[in-house]
Amino acid sequence: MRTIRTLSCFNRLVRRGSVVRMKKIGLIGGMSWESSALYYRLINEGVRDRLGGLHSARCVMASVDFAEIEHMQSAGEWAQAGELLAEEARSLEAAGAEVIVLCTNTMHKVSSRIESAVSVPLLHLVDVTRDAIVEAGLRKVVLLGTRFTMEEQFYRERMEANGVQTVVPDADGRATVNRVIFEELVLGIVSDESRREFRRIIESLAAAGAEGVILGCTEIELLIGEGDVSVPVFASTALHAAAAVDFALADGHLA
Ligand code: GLU
Repeated sequence: MRTIRTLSCFNRLVRRGSVVRMKKIGLIGGMSWESSALYYRLINEGVRDRLGGLHSARCVMASVDFAEIEHMQSAGEWAQAGELLAEEARSLEAAGAEVIVLCTNTMHKVSSRIESAVSVPLLHLVDVTRDAIVEAGLRKVVLLGTRFTMEEQFYRERMEANGVQTVVPDADGRATVNRVIFEELVLGIVSDESRREFRRIIESLAAAGAEGVILGCTEIELLIGEGDVSVPVFASTALHAAAAVDFALADGHLA
């Protein structure tokens, strides 16, 4: 009885003769909650697939009000937004999180502010996505996301640091992608017409030499996926969620 209690206390999992300690994942969500729900599902499915049985992820989520974040984005109040998210990260660490997962591409613009607020690591979405592209042997990919992600330097530079070149749609295409994100996808609206538009935009850039496409907004994979276009798809939410599962289950062997 005492042994059982001790084991559950330390969240040890007996599996194939070894003992694994699963780390607690801290998610900063709500940007939007449509994609946070996808993160939650994918992370739990990942743990179930890896450990089997009734296993599910140890995680805690701080979910913000997206209207407040969007207002700060539009007003250019990035420092305030960074401070707000840093505070959420601190609350996750206080709740026992051993890694921070920021569930949005755009807000990685302020990732360094979050990293400096906590002593646990931030699992950087851009690094995870870039590593998958490098592993696939690709050098030039389409980047789709919010106008901040497509037009500012923070995403592109981090990709280029490892030899991955990103190309973005023209001004009309960027306006379309940004509009579909903020007026449809974050509200849970998934339309065939927008899917056709995204496919058209991706295929025209693929015809001009892009070898793949980054779904660099955590809601885009609710609209399109592998098989919808002729080039490989790098879905940021799926890649980020899988990396979180890897982190939670890595280096945890106690016996
Ligand atoms: N979820 C989107 C992203 O990955 C947009 C929401 C936001 O602006 O944070 O960038």
